[in-house]
Amino acid sequence: MGFFDRFFNKEKKQDLDKGLEKTKTGFFEKISKAIAGKSTVDVEILDDLEQILITSDVGLETTIKIINRIEARVAVDKYLNTAELSTILRDEISDLLLENNTHDLEDFDTDGHKPQIILVVGVNGVGKTTSIGKLAYQFSLKGKKVMIAAGDTFRAAAEDQLKIWADRVGCLFFTKGMGADPSAVAYEATQKAIKEQVDVCIIDTAGRLHTKLNLMNELSKINRSIDKSLPGAPHEVLLVLDATTGQNAFEQCRHFTETSHVTGLILTKLDGTARGGVALGISDQFKIPIKYIGVGESIDKLQVFNRKAFIDSLFSKSDSSL
Ligand code: GDP
Ligand code: MG
Repeated sequence: MGFFDRFFNKEKKQDLDKGLEKTKTGFFEKISKAIAGKSTVDVEILDDLEQILITSDVGLETTIKIINRIEARVAVDKYLNTAELSTILRDEISDLLLENNTHDLEDFDTDGHKPQIILVVGVNGVGKTTSIGKLAYQFSLKGKKVMIAAGDTFRAAAEDQLKIWADRVGCLFFTKGMGADPSAVAYEATQKAIKEQVDVCIIDTAGRLHTKLNLMNELSKINRSIDKSLPGAPHEVLLVLDATTGQNAFEQCRHFTETSHVTGLILTKLDGTARGGVALGISDQFKIPIKYIGVGESIDKLQVFNRKAFIDSLFSKSDSSL
């Protein structure tokens, strides 16, 4: 590993630690309170822990799984020490995440398909456009030829915002202007990506329509146009979810995955929220990998989601508060 990589990894770890700070503090402070004055893990502590996990937005199903596992351990060791609770919790959460089918992605394999077409979906305000800018930046840094396309044709501002990212990154930009048919944008952007021999083309979409049904129909139409333009594309459909919305993120995930073929998730705004537990629940409940996490607004604050790094960060040093 070269100096640059080491430096870069250290920076990334710091971003992740900083991003998860609020989640971590909230979570461990509550646990410390729950076990204060107790030496062994009892029913009351387990009840409190269940409550803490739920209020940390881990989600009911995943919380129950974790509690059942800890209960099984308590059943074997009646005098389980509260000091060990953090370690056990960490073990159980790690196991749970390793058991589901998500796998860490180093990167998109852009060599397989050229151009690689990525469609980005999600409701308004979750961070689609920003994440596209950040992704384009990462691909550009790797020497890829990148194009981003303004498929959110609802507002002029949406197009401008994407254009600013394209200029910042120094990548190609495709637009048909405000009010254009998003499916036509997607079709033509894909054609242009082929013609310009682009490695990765990322297509933005609008997150708002009058009804959910309209939005889902629109997205199906966009998908079909891309496939018509380049059979087999889009190669990735990334659903963007905002971690700060907690349970709403679960709802949105359910909706979008029921109606479109989502291949991966981007969980944004982990910084500044105590609701990072969303990552655990979503990763466990939906059999769709979280591919990227947003840990800040700036261009370099999007990371490939690595479960081990995530758990390490979540459980680092705050353990001492137990
Ligand atoms: P879109 O409507 O889904 O395209 O959302 P935008 O990309 O316009 O983002 C909405 C807001 O969320 C903007 O102010 C972004 O700067 C902010 N944002 C996006 N991702 C992150 C993130 O990871 N962390 C933080 N703190 N803000 C983010
Ligand atoms: Mg947008």
